Amino acid sequence: MKSKLIILGCGSSVGVPRIDGYYGKCNRKNKKNVRTRCSAIIIKGSNKILIDTSPDLKSQLLSNKIKNVSSVIYTHEHADQTNGIFELRPFYWKNKKRISVYADKKTLGHLKRTHAYLFKNVSNYPPIVKSKVIRDKFSLGKHKENIIFRSFKAKHGKTYSIVYIFEKTAYISDCNDLSITKMEELKNLNYLILDCLKYKKHPTHFNLDQALYVHYNLKPKKTILTNLHTDMDYDLLLRKLPNNVLPAYDGLVLNL
Ligand SMILES: [Zn+2]
Repeated sequence: MKSKLIILGCGSSVGVPRIDGYYGKCNRKNKKNVRTRCSAIIIKGSNKILIDTSPDLKSQLLSNKIKNVSSVIYTHEHADQTNGIFELRPFYWKNKKRISVYADKKTLGHLKRTHAYLFKNVSNYPPIVKSKVIRDKFSLGKHKENIIFRSFKAKHGKTYSIVYIFEKTAYISDCNDLSITKMEELKNLNYLILDCLKYKKHPTHFNLDQALYVHYNLKPKKTILTNLHTDMDYDLLLRKLPNNVLPAYDGLVLNL
């Protein structure tokens, strides 16, 4: 069975435009410059695995007509990746089943502290999610819809985020770890979805030069740049990139 990945959001932590309407260097007339906070969904039949729950999760699922979520995998604990977790409640009401959320212990600890009521009975409302600690290798979904994941840690400033590899694709939304270029598991990919915050260097994210360095070393068939800040205009960036590197845009569908 074929699978696909939809980039639900490809913006930096503030998105484009920012809350005050600021577009930075992005042309406001180009819809591809309207970016919500980073998230993606992998779809294989009825198996729908969300990567992160951005603060824009509700509008992202509505605009992509996604009516169910089977499970969630988290890259790390930052607010732009986790703050939409509360939006998952209707899926619990619909399916009468707690949604499994997969993350490492650090991120699960953060989520349980900040959103305790979603994990256990602390109020009048039932818990709606179940926490699962990820392993280096795990799989989600039944029979033909099954997807096998590999996961490992990569540096994201002073913290780290989890890189997921599945269906010859890697998702690396928040990272500044150039040592990933040495990882055998990241070679022979069809798609590399890669952090590229800015043109200028940044202490916790890849900039364009570093993202291209990673691309040239890992040599995937295609690299998709994500986590794009307000200084990254879509058309301008596209013109600077080699043929097999593309800026992401919200709603981009990749057939895996
Ligand atoms: Zn982050």
